[in-house]
Amino acid sequence: MSQSLQGASFHIEHIQPRVHGGKTFLANLALACPGCNLHKADRISAKDPATENLVPLFHPRKNS
Ligand SMILES: [Zn+2]
Repeated sequence: MSQSLQGASFHIEHIQPRVHGGKTFLANLALACPGCNLHKADRISAKDPATENLVPLFHPRKNS
C-alpha cells in the first residue's frame, strides 16, 4: 500500500526484530504501514490459519 493511502506515516521497522538479534542497519530496515508493523511486533513467525503450521513471516528482501 502507498503511504498516501494509509493516512499515517509509515514506520521504519526491523525486519529481523532487535529482540531476535536484528541490527539497525539498512539491510535490516524496511518501511511498513503502522497497522502491519504493530501487529507484527517482535514476531518472526506465525501460525498459518489454513495449515496450522508455524511459518516465517514475509521478508521484504527475500520474499519479494
Ligand atoms: Zn499494512
